[in-house]
Amino acid sequence: MAVALTRGRTLALALVLAGGCSGPPTPATPSAAPGPAERPAAALEPAPAAAEVGEAVVTGPAAGAEVEAEASVAAPPVAVVPVSPAPPADPLAGFVDDTPRCPPERDACFGIHLHVVVDEGAPVRDLAWVSDQLARAEERFGAAIDVGFEVVAVDALPAEQRDIVTRLDRDKLGRPHFSRGVVHVFVVGSLADVDGPGEIRGVHWRDRAATERRWVIVSSIAGSLTLTHELGHFFSLPHSRYPVSLMNKGESPIPWSERAFHPREAQRMKRARAQMVASGALKLRPRPAADAG
Ligand SMILES: [Zn+2]
Repeated sequence: MAVALTRGRTLALALVLAGGCSGPPTPATPSAAPGPAERPAAALEPAPAAAEVGEAVVTGPAAGAEVEAEASVAAPPVAVVPVSPAPPADPLAGFVDDTPRCPPERDACFGIHLHVVVDEGAPVRDLAWVSDQLARAEERFGAAIDVGFEVVAVDALPAEQRDIVTRLDRDKLGRPHFSRGVVHVFVVGSLADVDGPGEIRGVHWRDRAATERRWVIVSSIAGSLTLTHELGHFFSLPHSRYPVSLMNKGESPIPWSERAFHPREAQRMKRARAQMVASGALKLRPRPAADAG
């Protein structure tokens, strides 16, 4: 205990000194910009439980020092003095750790590599929007074929790729980033209809130079089930006329919020899943060993 207290005081002192190096050690004020150490706590709130556990552990060394100093020194204001101005925030922070994970009960889990256009420092669609697209895909694929998805990587696309107009744009969007084993999903500002005027919400695209290379492009005007629909194409489905199906783009009395995959579509996707795993086009993510034995 005595050792811990001493260490705490030393760290508090170090913090004060560090504050002095980059500016006067003014007391914390509510208007002070949150330092890097405070950001993980804020990011925790909307995250699912599984992500929260991981995120709580991954606080930086500065955060650990602050907590310890607060616990052992009577003057708490010292601990929240911003040491230096916060670096520019990563516009894609949380897109991997704070998006939905495959539920442990899923039979199979596949990785999604996200590519998001960042324009003037902001993604064309935010973390909450992407999380919602993923959550709906997980619901539908989970119910139909016991498959889940989770984001395993994210990277930023330049603002020049915000508007995808031509077929060549679609090819060039995915070609440099393509790899086997995961589903590459591109989130762009707009996606033109290459067969006529206007925009579309999403597309499952095959590189015309090598059609086994394929990916999903989702526009910022996507509906809540657009990613799910395009993943349906990725899993071999064409458009259908089943009233219940989210692959049905025609008239149906069933509202979109209630659309899912038809059982016959589920059968077809199961076969495609097995083929993609066998060929290496998709790689199974490691699953918790809870069901072992
Ligand atoms: Zn479609």
